[in-house]
Amino acid sequence: MNQSIKKVIEIGINQETDSWLAGKIKLVNIISLVNFIFILNMIIIDFFINKTHYLSIVLLFVSFVMLLPYYLNYKKRYIASRIAFLIFAYISICFLAIVFGKEFYFQYYLVPGVGMSLIFFRDEIGKKKWIFTFAGIPLWIFLEIWFFYNPALVILDGKYVSIISYFSSFLIFATAIVMFGVFTHESDKQLINISRMNKKFKQLANVDALTGLYNRRFIDEQMDLIFKTAKEDKSFLSLVIFDIDFFKKVNDTFGHDAGDKVLQMIAKLANENFRQTDLVGRIGGEEFCIIFTNTNKENVLKIVDRFCKTIEEQTVVYERKNIKITSSFGISYLSQKIDSYTDLFKNADEALYKAKKDGRNRICEYEKK
Ligand code: GH3
Ligand code: MG
Ligand code: MG
Repeated sequence: MNQSIKKVIEIGINQETDSWLAGKIKLVNIISLVNFIFILNMIIIDFFINKTHYLSIVLLFVSFVMLLPYYLNYKKRYIASRIAFLIFAYISICFLAIVFGKEFYFQYYLVPGVGMSLIFFRDEIGKKKWIFTFAGIPLWIFLEIWFFYNPALVILDGKYVSIISYFSSFLIFATAIVMFGVFTHESDKQLINISRMNKKFKQLANVDALTGLYNRRFIDEQMDLIFKTAKEDKSFLSLVIFDIDFFKKVNDTFGHDAGDKVLQMIAKLANENFRQTDLVGRIGGEEFCIIFTNTNKENVLKIVDRFCKTIEEQTVVYERKNIKITSSFGISYLSQKIDSYTDLFKNADEALYKAKKDGRNRICEYEKK
């Protein structure tokens, strides 16, 4: 029950939606639904109490109009949703003021209307948000003059009570706007900062500092998900592990810094050689992996072979000395026999071991025994 209510309220929000935006979408959804339910209740009351049901017909139309912001959020048209909501708010206020005239203290109703615009908008529509915010002021003055009295006449009349009440209500109105404006401006700024920092931290936690490739933790996390999906869908999945040949020698001959430069070169080549969907990670000191999906064995072999040759042809220049390296690759594929992604790693590791044993600078596929 709770879960389905959450689903209804969070319509239009997904994992990629920024948290500050998600909050505002949720708010519009709730208001939209509450308005809808409230009006439906009015229809039910009208139906039982009144003899004619003109009100119900009008209300039925209004209730569906109230659902429009909700529908727009569902369609992921977030800005349109809130603009629609504000326009309805203003139209309702004008409508009520015109119908009920002096009985309707619209200046109070305008305060939430104006506050709303400040709550809903921040950098999304730039300066336009102020149009919505301040549209309430001329509207209010217009309605005030239309139904009550001209402010100029109030002053000319010289009645202190009228002057004081007129200007004090305007002051309350303006204070509310400024308070909402400053408060939401500052809090939205902080929220966006936090959300940006969160994104940055998340990204930092996923990559390796030296090479910028994904780290072991992220690869494990992704592999778990990718493995489950591939197993369920019976789709293609291949894991390639590769390791630099005689890397210890590079360190011993040219120094640790030179070794680091070689690792960075490998990362650069990997980024150039593989697609965005092929996940490349550094899973150990000089050990890397590539996860291939959405392809086939021939393609994997072709791409890995090309990459192996690219590494062999590359020269790293360190302090005017040329460093040449090679690398060995082990490949494993998902099959019915494999029940967990650790098996996939084990098999790729075994194939890599064989590539090393057979003379290095080569590719070896895992063979079932
Ligand atoms: P093999 O061909 O069998 O793989 O030989 P190898 O020398 O590459 O293998 P081994 O595993 O014995 O050596 C790995 C070396 O990698 C040892 C370690 O000093 C070095 N290493 C690990 N991480 C780093 C790093 O971040 N930077 C540098 N420069 N070296 C690293
Ligand atoms: Mg090694
Ligand atoms: Mg090595």
